[in-house]
Amino acid sequence: NYVPLSPVSFLERAADVYRERTSIVYGNIKYTWEETHHRCVKLASALNHLGISRGNVIATLAPNVPAMLELHFAVPMAGAIICALNTRLDANMLSTLLKHSGAKILFVDCQLLEMAEEAINLLKKTHSEQPKLVVISEPGSQCEYENLVERGVTEFSIIRPNDESDPISINYTSGTTSSPKGVVFSHRGAYLAAVNSVFVRGMREMPTYLWSVPMFHCNGWCFSWGSATVGVTNVCLRRCNPKDIFDNIVLHNVTHMDAAPTVLNMIVNSLLTDQKPLPHKVEILTGGSPPPATILSKIEELGFHVSHIYGLTETYGPGTLCSWKPEWDQLPLEEQAKLKARQGMKLFTFEEVDVKDPITMESVKCDGNSIGEVMFRGNTVMSGYFKDPKATSEAFNGGWFRSGDLAIKHPDGYIEVKDRYKDIIISGGENICTIEVETVIYSHPSVLEVAVVARPDDHWGQTPCAFVKLKDGVHVNGQEIIEYCRDRMPHYMSPRTVVFDDLPRNSTGKVQKFVLREKAKMMGSLTYEKV
Ligand code: ATP
Repeated sequence: NYVPLSPVSFLERAADVYRERTSIVYGNIKYTWEETHHRCVKLASALNHLGISRGNVIATLAPNVPAMLELHFAVPMAGAIICALNTRLDANMLSTLLKHSGAKILFVDCQLLEMAEEAINLLKKTHSEQPKLVVISEPGSQCEYENLVERGVTEFSIIRPNDESDPISINYTSGTTSSPKGVVFSHRGAYLAAVNSVFVRGMREMPTYLWSVPMFHCNGWCFSWGSATVGVTNVCLRRCNPKDIFDNIVLHNVTHMDAAPTVLNMIVNSLLTDQKPLPHKVEILTGGSPPPATILSKIEELGFHVSHIYGLTETYGPGTLCSWKPEWDQLPLEEQAKLKARQGMKLFTFEEVDVKDPITMESVKCDGNSIGEVMFRGNTVMSGYFKDPKATSEAFNGGWFRSGDLAIKHPDGYIEVKDRYKDIIISGGENICTIEVETVIYSHPSVLEVAVVARPDDHWGQTPCAFVKLKDGVHVNGQEIIEYCRDRMPHYMSPRTVVFDDLPRNSTGKVQKFVLREKAKMMGSLTYEKV
């Protein structure tokens, strides 16, 4: 009678234990955990009725509306695999991923329907099978999605995995460094990652969580499942700017939320002057890219308590947590922020994290100096890349998953990510970690955003080139930025070129350094300063 581990069981328990407790709030719409369970079972039965069977892929393309949370449970309840796609994809990429995933159905938000139709038309040119579109409208209004829920039956006997290693989801990576890869997770991995996602947020029973990160992203999908474990009230928003974040925190008494460093930056820079601090402490989890230390200390002044995580889609999101040590409270704020910007220690026992020499596979010394590659092994590491055995075998070395990130280990065991392999600059034989240069430039009071990349150089091989976006209404010239850096770090690390420009970001908001590297290459030997 053993039931294989699956995050679906969290919902079944939540329906019993948290019954009347609100599971989802979205505008005027509210569901309880019991209602959410009923709706998911009905939806699963309707999918079954549509011919969906074990192992089929069902894709979604929607912002954080209630249907997204429901589909995370209903799709596996129908025995199928959920593939939550990024809503910022263009029609071309969408059609590529629909083809690659072989999705049978695409649940699409009404506001993204046109783009989805364009993608399907592109798909028709090369592929005989296309997914059926099911439109999700605003909850409360009639749409194909609601019709499906209504048509379903609660007597449906859900389809459980045969084995814990059966796939539950496919998630495509951000495409920051290469084309997105389809990361496959098992029911077991998703179950443990969901538990992790609750621990890492320091949640106890019945918190209220504001969905300010997309559910399609790696933090998101694990927490959709995790939210059922402790009866979270999920405050869902279609989109959110800093004002929405503050308003919803107060309106719903939000206790927890997540935000990428870019969002923290937006909050700090758009609200600091006229915004009153929050009426209560809100736990905020940040990660996805390196958070600038200066932003971390400013966000705390607004009433947030920040926890910093590091991980990849391939590790089901968080792999390390920078947990706070009480003795650090005594340090000056600037020092505290530097400690918080470190990526931290491994999480619980579901997976191992180490920094290793990729050739010898030996662990690097915990001396705050020796550099190696971050590697992961264990239950919450992906099963592999979908339909890509070559990329899968290249991603592992002796059972360890290679992150592609370079890091050091401090004597206290904390990991500090220095750079991505692909981003490191080698100038006159010296390695320059771009994150270190960016950290210094971020501390300049006029700088809003910065990304540093290699620029080819006849003499040095490469030199650092900084792309900088200034705050509104300020003017600083490139030489001032260069001087600012030279006062704070070795000469060879300081940028030789400063370009004032917008930063290209991918669909998860990460800076696409490969685009900037191309730009830097095109500059030739000219000294270049675009204002
Ligand atoms: P792709 O693999 O398609 O290029 P991606 O690497 O951005 O995209 P994700 O899985 O979304 O795909 O991101 C994981 C990467 O994000 C990590 O390898 C690391 O480089 C970066 N990252 C995540 N969290 C942090 C953090 N806290 N500090 C520094 N870097 C981080």
